Amino acid sequence: MNITVFLGAPGSGKGTQAKKLAQDKGFFHFSTGDMLRAEIKKGTELGTKARAYIDKGELVPDTVMIELIEDSLLRVRRDGNVLLDGFPRTLAQAKALDSKQSTSVGLSILFEVPETLLIERLTGRRSCSQCAEPYHIVFIPPKVSGLCDKCGGKLTQRTDDTEDVVKRRLEVFKRQNDELLHYYASKKNLARIDANRSVNDIQQELSHVIEQWYTLNHSVN
Ligand code: AMP
Repeated sequence: MNITVFLGAPGSGKGTQAKKLAQDKGFFHFSTGDMLRAEIKKGTELGTKARAYIDKGELVPDTVMIELIEDSLLRVRRDGNVLLDGFPRTLAQAKALDSKQSTSVGLSILFEVPETLLIERLTGRRSCSQCAEPYHIVFIPPKVSGLCDKCGGKLTQRTDDTEDVVKRRLEVFKRQNDELLHYYASKKNLARIDANRSVNDIQQELSHVIEQWYTLNHSVN
């Protein structure tokens, strides 16, 4: 299994790029945030437990997250290319992945965006409650305020994209990120991407970085 992890602050665009890579190149994409939100929607025990942390902008405990990602990776075929988006977020999570040879991380990519832009990016995010189409009240506004251009569904805001919770999420990110970067940099598998550019420009550089890495180190299908 070739595992690539996307690192970066909330709102740095990891999810958008991960979805594109999964569509275009067949990567198995796991977004732990999306997985937890799906559990909340289904009303499971895990969802109820996770919600208490998510709504405050805190991290869900490592033991819960490690089990969730390990179970997910069991479903991937051995020669699959995997993208982890939102995991690991702590050093303990990173070490847990690397503790098994089959799930050790090949490449980590940091999405760099100036902090001042993140609050505006996050608090302006909306998505359609019916088809999940993403919007932003300033950067990608819908034609009719509050309604989806595609299906007319009502646009909603994530409960953790309000200003107070966003500030807490960014604090938590800063607290954990240095350790994680240090960990991957010492393993010499950290790449950095300027993520304050257009989606297409980032996508091109990302494909190039990933292809180059795996051409030198492994083979990507
Ligand atoms: P995201 O959609 O990636 O911004 O994640 C939303 C929220 O889910 C985070 O603020 C955390 O509360 C929780 N979460 C997602 N991934 C993790 C993780 N790897 N470790 C701990 N909490 C997580």
